[in-house]
Amino acid sequence: MDSNTDFTLAIEDLTVSFDGFKAVDSLNFYLDENELHVVIGPNGAGKTTVLDLICGKTKSTSGSIKFLNKELTKMSEHQIVNEGVGRKFQTPSIYENLSVLENLEISYPHGRGVYGSLMFKRSDEVLSKIKEIANEIMLQDDLETEAGLLSHGQKQWLEIGMLLIQDPQLLMLDEPVAGMSVKEREQTADLLKKICKGRSVLVIEHDMEFVERIAHKVTVLHQGKILATGNMEEVQKDPKVIEVYLGH
Ligand code: ADP
Ligand code: MG
Repeated sequence: MDSNTDFTLAIEDLTVSFDGFKAVDSLNFYLDENELHVVIGPNGAGKTTVLDLICGKTKSTSGSIKFLNKELTKMSEHQIVNEGVGRKFQTPSIYENLSVLENLEISYPHGRGVYGSLMFKRSDEVLSKIKEIANEIMLQDDLETEAGLLSHGQKQWLEIGMLLIQDPQLLMLDEPVAGMSVKEREQTADLLKKICKGRSVLVIEHDMEFVERIAHKVTVLHQGKILATGNMEEVQKDPKVIEVYLGH
């Protein structure tokens, strides 16, 4: 049996070389449905580059990225989004001068774009989806609030909502709790635990307390290669991991 066909995401022998420097080096990585997988590792380990490769922002030098059995390495960023891959960058890219509701609305699939949406009478279907997502991201009472007035944490949640409304099968988040308050971190942990149901979630994070709270599996990346992978407990007691990462 070809077991790779069972994975949402199957990365095999993936390498990217920047002027001879291998930022990602012969990486093998698999992600199941309903799995919340956290990638940790020192600065410069190649974590963000892995996300860049999956979402098509960076082209691989060699290797394969299969998402629901389709090869992503030859697709454009736009095609990859359409296949069902959503990615949140470190800095939120929301429309600060639009309301929470409008931000969610313009992200709705087959939406009308920023200008058209303002003229458009919202259908009940779109509105009920927006309300459902707003509930999930804890912004149900802020639908009319201008996004620029939200707290830093709420802006991050809004951007997660703008991805969720497109119902991605794979959601990738780069350091989602950076700069958040303790309370916001706890709420974000609960949010991520909920949204991994029915999809796969790949998170890069440094905050080990947060990682411990959410991760089904942890992979430690170091110099573009996997140092260890397993559940939190297994990874935390791995001597190689303690030496290059957790020991500091
Ligand atoms: P991490 O997210 O784990 O901190 P990155 O993936 O951002 O690490 O970077 C891994 C290494 O690859 C770093 O040494 C970085 O300087 C290098 N790198 C990343 N992107 C590029 C690029 N587009 N061109 C050249 N070098 C890059
Ligand atoms: Mg990074």
